[in-house]
Amino acid sequence: MKQKYFRILSVIFLSAILLSATLLNLNCQKKLKDFNVVVIVIDTLRSDKLDAYGYEKITAPFLTELSKKSILFENTFSASSWTSPATASIFTSLYPFQHNVLMGLLAHINAKKKFPDIKIDRIPEEIETMPEVFKKAGYATYAISDNFNIGDKQGFDQGFDKMITYGYKGAEQVNSDLFSWKEEIEKNGKYFLYLHYMDPHGPYHAREPWYKDPGNRKLEPLVAYDSEINYVDSYIKKAYEKFGWDKNTVIVVTADHGEGLWDHGRQGHGYSLYREEIQVPLIIHFPGGAEGKRVIPNVSTIDILPTLRDIIGLKKSDKDEGWSLLPLINGEEEKFKNRYLFTYLWKRIEIVKEIKSTIYRNFHFQNRIPKKKELFNLLLDQKEKKNLYFKMFKTAKKMERQFEKFFNNCKTYKKDSVNYKLNKERLEKLKTLGYVQE
Ligand SMILES: [Zn+2]
Repeated sequence: MKQKYFRILSVIFLSAILLSATLLNLNCQKKLKDFNVVVIVIDTLRSDKLDAYGYEKITAPFLTELSKKSILFENTFSASSWTSPATASIFTSLYPFQHNVLMGLLAHINAKKKFPDIKIDRIPEEIETMPEVFKKAGYATYAISDNFNIGDKQGFDQGFDKMITYGYKGAEQVNSDLFSWKEEIEKNGKYFLYLHYMDPHGPYHAREPWYKDPGNRKLEPLVAYDSEINYVDSYIKKAYEKFGWDKNTVIVVTADHGEGLWDHGRQGHGYSLYREEIQVPLIIHFPGGAEGKRVIPNVSTIDILPTLRDIIGLKKSDKDEGWSLLPLINGEEEKFKNRYLFTYLWKRIEIVKEIKSTIYRNFHFQNRIPKKKELFNLLLDQKEKKNLYFKMFKTAKKMERQFEKFFNNCKTYKKDSVNYKLNKERLEKLKTLGYVQE
């Protein structure tokens, strides 16, 4: 008899625990459902230039402070090394050869000289973009982009209640517009906000008080690049404090792509898929989200959208090519360790150029079509100087095959494009910024 009572009591006790755990869980989900979502993209920011990622200089004290309260992904790769394809991948959770936004506005302008009929790539309407996902979920949706490419011409405005785009006015201007919208953004409850800061994109400004003359002309642009990071970091801090994003907000900080700083002979981006052009920061902050955790396995910027859906409690989409990183945050590393990630660059300026790259564990395979194939060990050769393609032919081939298999079988969307002409004034401005080559 005693035993029977004991059994009944145990069942009641266990049920009570299960019920309270479920309620707690529901409670948690409900709360996050009402959270704001802020996605901040810092153009051209390579992760190894941030002190939070081990850089010897303090370039972003605010992001370091934020990362201590957040989850920092140590090995995040962009889907491309150009603004438009890379940002379209963040917006769609698709690789560039799937959404087919392959070149930005300025690249099109340059290509037009050689190919007069070339049109401008747009995100196809049939793809549900990140702002559209949040609009549908009842969010007020706002965006400020300081990169000329990220605007209505290429379809980045889809799903935003309000979006403003300009061409490199700097973080001070972004914040000034943002602050003037504050009341409007906050008045209807939860909001989705996309901020695309342009600093530290070239031409690099020597930002005071951070810029210190290195007394060496070769080092000047490198020191200026660093000072641009300090500059944008200080403005992100101001926005964070002004809006109180430490409460009721999920924040993602990342970059569209990195920057070659003469690592492989060139300065800039959109030239290659070497690590310096594709490895970007990724910091995700949400209350209760494993504060100070640093995640090692490779992830992609196409993972941001499914992760946000998961954190907020929105329905998963089988159209997302990326993976939710929530299981990884919760320690389920195994399947992430064996994942193949891809990056892609396609351009038609003088001739058509295509670069395909695969990241798998600590290896990076780059296929510069038609003939240059390279394999690097990301752990032992961080600067990617030692090509192991012939030495580790089997590994390279396997990675190449994985890319081709995915490339040939994945779902792709019909290319959407429009004719577009820049007005004279805008063209002149872009020339002075060094965007348009004569
Ligand atoms: Zn960019």
